[in-house]
Amino acid sequence: MTCVRPVPTFADVEAAARTLAGIAHRTPVATSATLDRRTGARLFLKCENLQRAGAFKFRGAFTALSRLDPQQRRAGVLTYSSGNHAQAVALAARELGIPATIVMPTDAPESKVAATRGYGAEIVGYDRYTVDREALGAELARDRGATLIPPYDHPDVIAGQGTATLELLDEAGELDALFVCLGGGGLLAGATLAVRARSPRTRIYGVEPAAGDDGKRSLRAGEIVRIDVPRTIADGAQTQHLGRYPFAIIRDGVDDILTVPDDALIDCMRFFAARMKLVVEPTGCLAMAGALAQAGDLAGQRVGVIVSGGNIDLDRFARLIAPG
Ligand SMILES: *Cc1c(COP(=O)(O)O)cnc(C)c1O
Repeated sequence: MTCVRPVPTFADVEAAARTLAGIAHRTPVATSATLDRRTGARLFLKCENLQRAGAFKFRGAFTALSRLDPQQRRAGVLTYSSGNHAQAVALAARELGIPATIVMPTDAPESKVAATRGYGAEIVGYDRYTVDREALGAELARDRGATLIPPYDHPDVIAGQGTATLELLDEAGELDALFVCLGGGGLLAGATLAVRARSPRTRIYGVEPAAGDDGKRSLRAGEIVRIDVPRTIADGAQTQHLGRYPFAIIRDGVDDILTVPDDALIDCMRFFAARMKLVVEPTGCLAMAGALAQAGDLAGQRVGVIVSGGNIDLDRFARLIAPG
């Protein structure tokens, strides 16, 4: 299958930055003397856990929705997701006065359903064990004339996600290396566009859970590799394959893709909470865990890390960081 629209470029990231100005938070870039000591590097952490709706996904969702024409806006948008993309689409739709339908499994965490409904979206439940959500989503979108907004395989979504890295480079200056969490590849593809235009010598690393190394294998194979749903606590990266638009950018622009085990994510969650007073969800820790795993190679370097999200039920957070 080929891409229907052109693969996005850095100009699209710059346009997204103009769209998001005054709407998305310009999240802080945190530093930590302890982390710098531990790695021998100078680390710059882009705190997208503090973004609106709790993750970078708001950037891509708002950018994509704001590119719809008046007729498409009236007919509404639809997405299938139980995670951060659902909340991001719901919030962006509310801001733009667009009706939103979110297709979610009936056993999704109550807090996520409540947050999404709280942004005014209509929720359609489905049984995740018997119903194909993509087929259901496509059918509902067709019936309603709604525009489907996928979580990563979309040019405007990628352009929006790229603005997080653009802001990081604006604030931290040129970097020697950048670490980015990897699921379907929207965030990493956007980061690649920004880095290749603004800080071309930077080495870019995607980081995915060890249980789901499809991205790493895809980069090696030169084509998209598909896997079963990976068993990992990084629920935002339980994707089975990279998107076509992201892969078109990642294939040539990314230096390597690393994997980290779940216990390294827990160590990072504990560190972020205890030392930096940051609540970060497991998926949001992938990039930091990847940087720590590479620490031996980073001495003396300026290193960027995208901390991608902070949405996690407090009781799950407590269970995961509990000792033993
Ligand atoms: C969606 C998500 C990711 C993965 O992003 P992709 O664009 O799918 O690669 C990483 N971290 C968090 C917190 C997310 O919500």
